[in-house]
Amino acid sequence: MFLETMKVRADSNTSQRIHGINPRSDECWECFRSIEESCVIYPRRNLTDLRWHWKCFKCYACSQDLIITRAMWSVSKQRIVCISCSKKDNIRKAFQDLETGFERVTLLTQYVFLVRVAFERLQGIWGTEDIPSRGQSSD
Ligand SMILES: [Zn+2]
Ligand SMILES: [Zn+2]
Repeated sequence: MFLETMKVRADSNTSQRIHGINPRSDECWECFRSIEESCVIYPRRNLTDLRWHWKCFKCYACSQDLIITRAMWSVSKQRIVCISCSKKDNIRKAFQDLETGFERVTLLTQYVFLVRVAFERLQGIWGTEDIPSRGQSSD
């Protein structure tokens, strides 16, 4: 019952995806479901890292399943494109800001992250002030 309430409350303040850990940042950028397994992230300075399930980590253009070293991210289009597609003329034109930088996240790291997200949710609900400030440790 309590958990139920917590979920509704957390969902209702559909947080903007901004700095720090936002309460919804455990969601996959592709399917919007929470990620509770090893996954892929695209770290962003001062912004919530983007993350994907492995099964959701696909090229936008050819839908091929990707590995980190073959994936590129377009900040402006917010899409993943594979290296092969990135060399095609039409893709190159449409996605002019492709960058590498994806990282693998282990199951353990993801669990630690989920705990921090849960913390954020609690903080959002109770307005607790004395939770250690985030963004201090760069790991
Ligand atoms: Zn997903
Ligand atoms: Zn592709």
